Amino acid sequence: MTYSNGGHGLDAVDGDGYSTWDAAYVLGALSSTERREFETHLQTCDRCRSAVAELSGMPALLGLLSEGDVRGLDGDQPEPPPLRRNAGFPTCGSSSTRYSRSSTCSAT
Ligand SMILES: [Zn+2]
Repeated sequence: MTYSNGGHGLDAVDGDGYSTWDAAYVLGALSSTERREFETHLQTCDRCRSAVAELSGMPALLGLLSEGDVRGLDGDQPEPPPLRRNAGFPTCGSSSTRYSRSSTCSAT
């Protein structure tokens, strides 16, 4: 992931291996171990901390969007095609026990 972070262009190569973790951290893509590691790093790294603060607005926006999308999908979702129940029906009729058929297939 490459993006410019203000005037700290050179900082990206000074050994900060966490410079690309901010987005993953904000999006919750880091494992619990990685998250703890990154949070420890945030305490000592102003650049990553500001990057996280900057990005932290994103999930909220995404959340709002996805919420609306879900609602839209719920309303517009086409009904699934009806199941062909007849396909499984013969198992009832083909039963050799004639008398039990009325009870086992009472639903029909
Ligand atoms: Zn950092």
